[in-house]
Amino acid sequence: MRRERRELSNWGHYPTIKAEIGYPRSVKEVRSEVLRHDRLIARGNGRCYGDAALAPQVLSTLCLNQIRSFDARQGIVEAEAGVLLADLLDVIVPAGWFFHVTPGTRFITIGGAIACDVHGKNHPHKGCFSNWLLDFELMRADGSILRCSRQENSDLFWQTCGGMGWTGIILSARFQLMRISSVFLRQRTLKVSSVEALIEAFENHRSWPYAVAWVDGLARGKQLGRSVLLLAEHIEEEQPSALAFPKRYALNMPFYAPHFLLNPAIIWAYNQLYFARARNGEHRIDLEQCFYPLDRIRNWNRLYGRRGLVQYQFGLPEASCVAGFRRALELLHRSGEAPFLCVVKRHGDRPPEAIHSFPERGYSLALDFPRTRTLPALVRQLDDLVWQLGGKVYLAKDACSAPRMGRLQPQAFAADKFWSLLRERVQQ
Ligand SMILES: Cc1cc2nc3c(=O)[nH]c(=O)nc-3n(C[C@H](O)[C@H](O)[C@H](O)COP(=O)(O)OP(=O)(O)OC[C@H]3O[C@@H](n4cnc5c(N)ncnc54)[C@H](O)[C@@H]3O)c2cc1C
Repeated sequence: MRRERRELSNWGHYPTIKAEIGYPRSVKEVRSEVLRHDRLIARGNGRCYGDAALAPQVLSTLCLNQIRSFDARQGIVEAEAGVLLADLLDVIVPAGWFFHVTPGTRFITIGGAIACDVHGKNHPHKGCFSNWLLDFELMRADGSILRCSRQENSDLFWQTCGGMGWTGIILSARFQLMRISSVFLRQRTLKVSSVEALIEAFENHRSWPYAVAWVDGLARGKQLGRSVLLLAEHIEEEQPSALAFPKRYALNMPFYAPHFLLNPAIIWAYNQLYFARARNGEHRIDLEQCFYPLDRIRNWNRLYGRRGLVQYQFGLPEASCVAGFRRALELLHRSGEAPFLCVVKRHGDRPPEAIHSFPERGYSLALDFPRTRTLPALVRQLDDLVWQLGGKVYLAKDACSAPRMGRLQPQAFAADKFWSLLRERVQQ
């Protein structure tokens, strides 16, 4: 089995750790790895932002990458944990299927999708990845393998969905896909001038399956929270033509930008341009443009420089989101920190069993900050605000919020074999 020792980080490039990484190719090798170490953590493609998939001992699933079966009539896939959504798209789209739930990048593994119970732009309509999960195989600390579903080992099923890898190693999973008859979607763009107008626009367009808003994080005064809301729905073709997942030429960011590139002045100018260029109206876009626009620039995280980026994604209940988002934006203006990307999503109800899933009824705001020395002070203020308003932070993105902010139930994770820097931080 291949093994390497190197400096490791996730998508945010912060924090980093010197890790020994094993790449098992079979269940037997996974077991020997699990039994060999007192503590280790599973790792997919490292697309979480903070400290979740980091530990001194890491088990990478990237060599467990077989699609075991694909039932093209029922739209059911069985795949090993290290299979990427990107690889599945090449198989399922030509057969007329897509994911019910997908995050904003296709370069994540099935294991990562389950362990963070990822959500997309359609949470009120389709829930999280776990909503479409039929079952999975999980290796426990003693090397035994359990099949988990809503009927079988159901407690473990729900502890694992959103459980950040702390229940064991997901080996493979089966899940349900969604029928599509076209690779195109109708997108409507709506420009709004404030936080209040944004939430009102989300509420008035609840019937659209997909909704996400780009927010100008630096706009102040009367324009505080001015945004561009993007709504989308699949186009249905009566006579479906041959489908293929559209892929554009991918740009690459070959080196780390100097850390001062994304400074407040540049971000301000970019936001002015983005807002001015956005036009109200409708047009046709394809699956890649709708779901994975960031994937077009490989290694875009290097734009933030070697210091990396911190994403702070927090959710608030419906009743407090307008005041909460206003206050959060005011806090960040006062702090002098400038987020390059600000995104708002609406979330629906969380199934009661999905105890660790991040989305709950309300809205979330994700802020991508270049990591500066002064950022932790702002994070502390945001933590206090979010906590007081009954909100929480998404652990898949988190790198430095206070331990309480994930609102996890640590008693659910008895075995401490599966241990990460994140677990160390939140279970202090
Ligand atoms: C550009 C971008 C956009 C994103 N957009 C969204 C979004 O819209 N919605 C959203 O929810 N998330 C989003 N994310 C976050 C990302 O989808 C999740 O963090 C996802 O879990 C990453 O999957 P991964 O395979 O890279 O897992 P990793 O990052 O390697 O690991 C993530 C967690 O899963 C655990 N894990 C991984 N594999 C296994 C396994 N086999 N068994 C047990 N535990 C395992 C790890 O221990 C870790 O805790 C985005 C990330 C990026 C970079």
